[in-house]
Amino acid sequence: MSGLKGVAQALRRAVTIVLALAVAVLGVLTSTPTASAQGVAPLPGPIVGEFDPPKVAWNAGHRGLDLAGFPGESVVAPAAGVVTFVGQVGGVPVVVVSHGERRSTFEPVVATVSVGQEVEIGDVLGRLQAGHACSAAACLHWGLKRGDTYLDPRLLLAAADLRLLPAGSAVAADASAAQRAAEGAMSQGTLLNPVGGGIGSPFGMRFHPILHIWRLHAGVDLHAGCSTPIRAAADGVVTHVGFDASGGNRLVVDVGAVQGRALVTSYLHAEGYRVAVGDRVIRGDVVGWVGSTGLSTACHLHFSVKADGVQVDPAPYLGLA
Ligand SMILES: [Zn+2]
Ligand SMILES: [Zn+2]
Repeated sequence: MSGLKGVAQALRRAVTIVLALAVAVLGVLTSTPTASAQGVAPLPGPIVGEFDPPKVAWNAGHRGLDLAGFPGESVVAPAAGVVTFVGQVGGVPVVVVSHGERRSTFEPVVATVSVGQEVEIGDVLGRLQAGHACSAAACLHWGLKRGDTYLDPRLLLAAADLRLLPAGSAVAADASAAQRAAEGAMSQGTLLNPVGGGIGSPFGMRFHPILHIWRLHAGVDLHAGCSTPIRAAADGVVTHVGFDASGGNRLVVDVGAVQGRALVTSYLHAEGYRVAVGDRVIRGDVVGWVGSTGLSTACHLHFSVKADGVQVDPAPYLGLA
């Protein structure tokens, strides 16, 4: 047992050193400081269960991230907050920490904090127990909610600031194995193809199928069936979520500097989105579902990119040119 424990501790130390190096490299590479508070993972272990939110509240899904650990391991606060719940839910020990509008839930965790207690980043909240179904000796299920909406818990972590790194850098590429898994077989470009589909209608002048006039088609129409999950093309911050007659349900994400140009991405015609203005999104996050709202004849995703304020052809960015 002590041998195994020693290995686990050595592994933890190695992970800590790698994380510290990554943070140091990030510090050097990030050109613009961001105002965001940086978080830490509540456990150093790898992600073994991906965030997979259900579209409808009562459907199956995985409403958080599972992090691998071992029974008795310390679970720490990923961000500052106030402990708002400690107790059993359905026989499982749960700790809830509120960070302003959002709150983190941790289970199965036996609390060493009490309700009302203020915690700083890295403060120990309790001890991990075995019992959450996963591939490791024990797993922490970490959830993040705003109101009734489940968010990707990584939104609390510094990983969101990877958007400032040059795309394809080693650090960005290594940021999250789970993210890579989420991207799966989708085409790889500077931006992730949000639905993985090919181009139905390209960028450029076209005779509008509904308006019957020639005008600039200021983006690409990507093939995707109704309700296909739409994934964030890049890390960024949501600057608009709304409905308008032409774009239908429209989402705008400011991606920041990519290859020296300020990129802003837009997603149109969705059935709906699960993010709100001000949210940070991470490349590969599910942000909504494909629909046919607005001026649209069938389900598809209209995706557009502004570079330094000018509409450009997204195809090269998506690796589809
Ligand atoms: Zn879980
Ligand atoms: Zn279009």
